[in-house]
Amino acid sequence: MTRDELKALIRDVPDFPKPGIMFRDVTTLIGHGRGFAAAVGHLADLAGSTEATSIAGIEARGFIFGASVAARLGLPFVPVRKPGKLPVPVLAMDYALEYGTDTLEVDPGAISSGERVVVIDDLIATGGTAHAAIKLLREAGAEVGHALFLVDLPDLGGADRLREAGVTVEALVDFPGH
Ligand code: AMP
Repeated sequence: MTRDELKALIRDVPDFPKPGIMFRDVTTLIGHGRGFAAAVGHLADLAGSTEATSIAGIEARGFIFGASVAARLGLPFVPVRKPGKLPVPVLAMDYALEYGTDTLEVDPGAISSGERVVVIDDLIATGGTAHAAIKLLREAGAEVGHALFLVDLPDLGGADRLREAGVTVEALVDFPGH
């Protein structure tokens, strides 16, 4: 299945979660068996061409794609979690949202020093979420040189922000605007 065919499986939901936002909904893609398999296959090809020793996914939709890619490549999966979910002492990273802040957490025991981690999420917009995940994983001792997304919204500048942080960014499809 081509990337254009994958793009056609993503549902556009206007004004969600608030007016003016065009929500690019991957629920319809993962609900399509061949489409889901193809998306994971493309992402696994990209991750497999790096020297990754482990795959990190960002809660929640990044778990769907990241864990699938990790299993396909036979690599460990590191969940980057929303606050208060991990049952052990965590490393945490706050990051700015449009209104307020949010936090990501990781189990430092899940990362060995020098581990080469590829970060996966469903979508990159401003890049704030992925940048926080990368900083967190680096603080835990990982080398993060690559981040993969199903969808990039390039006009929001997130991919460029990650590139400035020394990360190679690839996405299977992109949408203009926001
Ligand atoms: P950002 O931190 O701005 O790059 O936002 C990325 C996170 O928010 C990802 O985890 C996405 O799942 C979600 N997100 C942001 N904008 C959208 C959008 N237009 N459609 C779907 N998900 C989005």
